[in-house]
Amino acid sequence: MKGKIEIDQDLCKGCELCIFFCPKKLITLSDKLNAAGYPPSAFSGNGECTGCATCALVCPEVAIEVYRG
Ligand code: SF4
Ligand code: SF4
Repeated sequence: MKGKIEIDQDLCKGCELCIFFCPKKLITLSDKLNAAGYPPSAFSGNGECTGCATCALVCPEVAIEVYRG
């Protein structure tokens, strides 16, 4: 199954949990800051996302939306 995620840049606090737990290592930290002054995480979206939703489950800010299809 293929998936993709969207990360709400303004909810993200750059805690890196999603980066650590993504089994495919598809998430990185942005080099820009969001409105609250945190560097938000970014999805590399290279077609390897399985839609497993691990990233969304571990996110304490509920900033990740997962789409499967
Ligand atoms: S849904 Fe799974 S594979 Fe896709 S980015 Fe999140 S943790 Fe990684
Ligand atoms: S787990 Fe959530 S708050 Fe932490 S870096 Fe990822 S998207 Fe941002």
